[in-house]
Amino acid sequence: MRILVTGCAGYIGGTFTFEALKRGFKVIGIDSFINGKKNNIKFFLENYRESFKFIEEDLSDYKAEKLKKELDSIKIDVAVHCAGLKSVDESEKEPLLYWKNNVDSTINLLNILSNSNVRKVIFSSSATVYGDSDIHPILEDFGIEPVSTYGSTKVAIEQMLKDSSRSKKFDVVSLRYFNPVGSHKEMKVYESPYSMPNNLMPRIIRVALKLDQKLQIYGTDYDTRDGTGERDYIHIDDLVEGHFKAVEYIKDFKGYEVFNLGTGTSITVKEIISCFEEVNGIKISHEYADRRPGDIAKCYADPSKANNLLGWSAQKNLEDMCRDAWKAIKNNLNDAK
Ligand code: UDP
Repeated sequence: MRILVTGCAGYIGGTFTFEALKRGFKVIGIDSFINGKKNNIKFFLENYRESFKFIEEDLSDYKAEKLKKELDSIKIDVAVHCAGLKSVDESEKEPLLYWKNNVDSTINLLNILSNSNVRKVIFSSSATVYGDSDIHPILEDFGIEPVSTYGSTKVAIEQMLKDSSRSKKFDVVSLRYFNPVGSHKEMKVYESPYSMPNNLMPRIIRVALKLDQKLQIYGTDYDTRDGTGERDYIHIDDLVEGHFKAVEYIKDFKGYEVFNLGTGTSITVKEIISCFEEVNGIKISHEYADRRPGDIAKCYADPSKANNLLGWSAQKNLEDMCRDAWKAIKNNLNDAK
């Protein structure tokens, strides 16, 4: 089976690519290196010369000549579309950049796939599409009310994919990720803490590395267990496993389907800090700060649809996530940048 992976140099696309190569799939990867790491591609090319092919290209560039040429000669069975910008904060400052990079590039990708008769698409969506839901845990049919431009682009892409599936050109599975953290079991692909991340785990890692003096905890007066934000953190290995289940599922599936990929458990900011400290024996200095604009109090999944239809459930716990996130950085101190 041949899989096209967009965003194959990034944290999620790269982890999926590595695992797909290990499992014997052939992978055509594409990345523009806006956020992805060249080291990941170097590693895949060195270790999977026969089964990995890389295209450096920006999908929001309508020409995308390299990809078009590649698909003229190679038959792709499934496209796993992970490419996209993902900072909520940046999306609020640069909305058009997000619409171009996330939405335009997906229109372009779908046109190219359609011309090459690729009809199976798995899309990296996000729990951000639910916005600030009053009810938890969140089911897939709850209201869609994104509260950021990033979220709006995910909703727009989901809608585009749903409409395209009605035209019978595509069969699509959208995977709504909750909060992926941790590192792949072999610690070769991981989330970089060096490029000024906004997310909690890489920021904790920055404090552990002494790149930052203190972690700021954004908001201690939320209506949650301890006043700090509650999220559904999911180990990257579990998230990636969900993609392989989706690859199986989509083979015989026709239409459009969406799944939550989360554990169903909520964890507060204070709880994740304590767990990280305990598991790794490192003190994470922190201070309390105001709420971050655009943040919500809580967000966690009801993953029963993925349990029932994909036969998938998360296996790893918060300790695994904290241990693996730190271990990957410790193991790769020389080239983690
Ligand atoms: N958070 C924090 N300090 C940080 C980064 C994040 O307190 O430096 C909190 C944030 O307010 C939220 C949780 O950690 O409650 C998860 O934030 P993240 O950005 O990782 O995910 P998202 O908000 O997109 O779910």
